[in-house]
Amino acid sequence: MSEPVKCPVCGKKAKTGSAIDCARHMFGIGDKPHRAWVEAQGLSFIDLLIEQATTPGNKSYVTLAEFIEKAQRKPRWT
Ligand SMILES: [Zn+2]
Repeated sequence: MSEPVKCPVCGKKAKTGSAIDCARHMFGIGDKPHRAWVEAQGLSFIDLLIEQATTPGNKSYVTLAEFIEKAQRKPRWT
């Protein structure tokens, strides 16, 4: 079983524990720390937001979810 995905910014667990839900959460909050994390991945938060709003489907969520999954797999420095 895979671990539920937690938001890499605030540590909040997505409702279903899926990376897509976590991406949705990040867009939903959309505050400075969440935007900064997206930008740090080399993505544009605004572009993803516009794409999500103007194109059908969940393309932006899927894109961001891939980065969230990658971040989740990274070993933590504790
Ligand atoms: Zn968060």
